[in-house]
Amino acid sequence: MSNSQPSPPRTWAEINLDALKHNLDVAKELSNQRVMAVLKAGAYGHDIKRIGLALDDCDLAFFGVASVIEARKLSIIGCTTRIYLLGPTLAVEREEIVSNRWTPCISSIAEAEHFDQLNQGNEPLLVHITVDTGMGRGGFLPSLLSEGLKKLLSYKNLYIEGIGSHLPSADEDREFTLSQFEIFSKAVTKVTEDNGHSFDYIHLSNSAGLLDYTSTVTNLVRPGLMLYGISPIVKYQAKLKPVLTLKSRISIIRNLPEGHSISYGRTTFLERDSRVATIGVGYGDGYPRSISHQNGEVWIRAKRCPILGRVTMDQIMVDVTDLTDAEDGDEVELFGKHILATEVAEKAATIPWEIFTRITPRVTKIYF
Ligand SMILES: *Cc1c(COP(=O)(O)O)cnc(C)c1O
Repeated sequence: MSNSQPSPPRTWAEINLDALKHNLDVAKELSNQRVMAVLKAGAYGHDIKRIGLALDDCDLAFFGVASVIEARKLSIIGCTTRIYLLGPTLAVEREEIVSNRWTPCISSIAEAEHFDQLNQGNEPLLVHITVDTGMGRGGFLPSLLSEGLKKLLSYKNLYIEGIGSHLPSADEDREFTLSQFEIFSKAVTKVTEDNGHSFDYIHLSNSAGLLDYTSTVTNLVRPGLMLYGISPIVKYQAKLKPVLTLKSRISIIRNLPEGHSISYGRTTFLERDSRVATIGVGYGDGYPRSISHQNGEVWIRAKRCPILGRVTMDQIMVDVTDLTDAEDGDEVELFGKHILATEVAEKAATIPWEIFTRITPRVTKIYF
């Protein structure tokens, strides 16, 4: 290694923490409920530690994570916000959960019994009970809920602090989602009456549920995607500010003749003499290869420019013929404020959640 300064990154993600806080404020105002900020999958690719630190003093009820690895990352850096595990846990993970006082959600008697045993001699462990109202991923069926809670309440080393369920199609199916709110609300009322136990936290909504529905029974919401500035429902997008912008640079601009082929498979031939920009980003950075030939565009000098041919691992080619002032080194937005992750997702036949979580470690993240 020479002593020269390292060069700046070729492809990077700019992460705007003010936008993150703006989106959280929107979630608080719209729901008027306590918030569990969902930070799973590395805070949707935004870096769990940085996002955890940024939100730790924002009066959140919980950070929601998928796994103990994620919970550990937040604990290690000293986050004081309580940590909630969003799905069923493995038996081998439970000792760590108990000793860190993380909050699991319970889907079965067996899990509860194990947590009860592991927590002997300690203050009761705060846990939530999960109801399966249609997600099919975990929880007690509503018909078995009262019996389940009765058993859970018999464990002296547990305290059943909350009850939750999850919405599988709040951004797609209004009728079904309304029925879920109804079923959940009835289930909560009934289980409370049957067992004489009331819950501190009652929660159902993800981002789409929070944005598009109201509930009188819940007092906690669990937004994920919307915190990162993308609305799962288009009509609410204007309320939010995208937090992450994926950027790269033009490495070179070349003049190529009509008929010249572009990229692997030679699936594209230039229809005119063109200026073709080669940009230093590809699927190796998480930019989706499946956007090839789907009219994908990038943002250069405040203009949209079409992608030519297939996305390669490290580079893409873009038509800048009409952008006469484009130069080598120019900044390129792949997605962010001007081209929403939603648009890239649609063209790549996936969802914005996946566009964020597939950003690879090669991409440097810059926070401001
Ligand atoms: C991921 C997740 C959320 C957040 O979902 P978004 O659609 O990103 O808001 C909420 N609750 C649970 C149980 C989840 O798994």
